[in-house]
Amino acid sequence: MQDSSYDVVVVGAGNAALCAAISAKEHGAKVLVLEKAPEDEKGGNSYFTAGGFRFVHTGLDDVRDDVLVDMSDDEADKMILPSHDKQFFYDTLMKVTRGQSNEDLAWTLINGSRPAMAWLRENGVRFIPMYGRQSFEVDGKQHFYGGVNIEAVGGGAGLVEFLLERCRKVGIDIRYGTGATKLYQDENYRITGLQVRAQGGYEDIACKSVVLACGGFESNPEMRVRYLGQGWDLARVRGTRHNTGDGIQMALDIGAVPYGNWSGCHSVGWDISAPPFGDRWVLDNFQKHSYPLGIMVNIHGERFVDEGEDYRNLTYVRFGKAIMGQPHYTCVQIFDQKTTHRLRDEYRIKEVTHVKSDTIEGLAEQLEISVEGLKKTIEEYNAACPDQSFIDANYNPAILDNVGTTGISPAKSNWALPIDEPPYEAWVTTTGVTFTFGGLKIDDKNCVQDKADRGIPGLFAAGELVGGLFYENYPGGTGLMSGSVFGRRAGEFAAEYARTTNT
Ligand SMILES: Cc1cc2nc3c(=O)[nH]c(=O)nc-3n(C[C@H](O)[C@H](O)[C@H](O)COP(=O)(O)OP(=O)(O)OC[C@H]3O[C@@H](n4cnc5c(N)ncnc54)[C@H](O)[C@@H]3O)c2cc1C
Repeated sequence: MQDSSYDVVVVGAGNAALCAAISAKEHGAKVLVLEKAPEDEKGGNSYFTAGGFRFVHTGLDDVRDDVLVDMSDDEADKMILPSHDKQFFYDTLMKVTRGQSNEDLAWTLINGSRPAMAWLRENGVRFIPMYGRQSFEVDGKQHFYGGVNIEAVGGGAGLVEFLLERCRKVGIDIRYGTGATKLYQDENYRITGLQVRAQGGYEDIACKSVVLACGGFESNPEMRVRYLGQGWDLARVRGTRHNTGDGIQMALDIGAVPYGNWSGCHSVGWDISAPPFGDRWVLDNFQKHSYPLGIMVNIHGERFVDEGEDYRNLTYVRFGKAIMGQPHYTCVQIFDQKTTHRLRDEYRIKEVTHVKSDTIEGLAEQLEISVEGLKKTIEEYNAACPDQSFIDANYNPAILDNVGTTGISPAKSNWALPIDEPPYEAWVTTTGVTFTFGGLKIDDKNCVQDKADRGIPGLFAAGELVGGLFYENYPGGTGLMSGSVFGRRAGEFAAEYARTTNT
């Protein structure tokens, strides 16, 4: 093994990894970051995100202190930002995971979220409110809703650039095109280094501790079928092609215990013409997240979920999976002119599968789906919507407004407006996989656990490849937050371990 002077090697260069690297450096370690992707594909899944974070705060005055520090008083006067307290974060996480999220991980995430946002800002990440995606104008004010209201300037690409800039400033080495392939241990199971596959061949790198932060197995079709189930090899991948489960596999190979929801993943409605992996120009705009404003049908013209069951960012993951259960993994979102002006920006890009017609028959014909099925569904749906006076008094897309259907299944529980104002517009989606939920088990110091629930000395983990936090579903904005909270901690503990271990 090459003698190296690195204390901590961080595997991956997405949000979790870069947070780990900066934190390890802050705690005195000499740090190397290894990134399998070439530099022009840098940033992992984190690059493809909107850069939205879910975190605990008490409202606008609070976040203006040390997160939204660039905001003017004028701008602040025009917005309403509801607080997001610890209990609400916890209840939301437990609601969507049906109580299965690991309590310790959940509270570590929740308690660490507010300090981590200030820490990111201190480390150069700039933030703004998520105007385009998480707010509606009501009575002259911009009302934010849904819990994910703050994003990094420049989205995920901006976030990655800010973090890389910080790494450069503090002197962290990064090697692109260098994927970790194997972990080495001594006779006491302590990590002594790792093997990498670099441009010129395999190399061994010695170090005192390793932080695995190299994503899940969403980009590995063989593992998707093995763990998520039949058909998932055919799903599109929304982000990087490089998250092929390497970190998880390397840890399992030295006795780590598999943990969390291995058959679960984050997936969403994604344009049916999108390429197999994420597109660095279109980014997350293949997603189509305004379905609460309309209805979704399959190729038989039948609805299959309650589009208004809850806020979008609490249902979109389950609905992504629901599309995998539809014939040809296909879903059509339908809107009329009462709501098209409210659709998110992603509906207006040129890379969309979109049709428009003055009649429902015309729409179905162009979509090549069942004409009779769609007509019947829309007639029944329209008849089940509340009467106009109730809608006029109560409709509000920024809250759960109880403007719901009666007498149809599935119901539409909120925001149920009849679809009767042509031209009608439709967008066609399939399922796009974001990341997988199963992974490694960590203890309260981010140390990876073996099958006897003992820590593997010198091995730490953060980000997507940690299991136990998300089950079946996921509250939007938690992936980046978890990467930052656990990445920051993993870096600190890996540095502390490197400092105190005797080799
Ligand atoms: C389109 C899209 C939109 C999203 N929007 C949001 C959002 O707005 N808010 C939110 O919270 N979450 C969002 N997410 C989820 C979020 O991206 C992830 O939860 C988070 O970025 C994961 O961070 P990570 O650092 O664990 O992984 P990544 O950012 O994926 O980083 C992992 C890195 O490891 C590298 N790697 C893989 N194998 C190896 C190896 N063997 N050796 C070295 N390097 C390796 C990869 O190349 C990659 O760069 C979104 C995801 C996608 C795809």
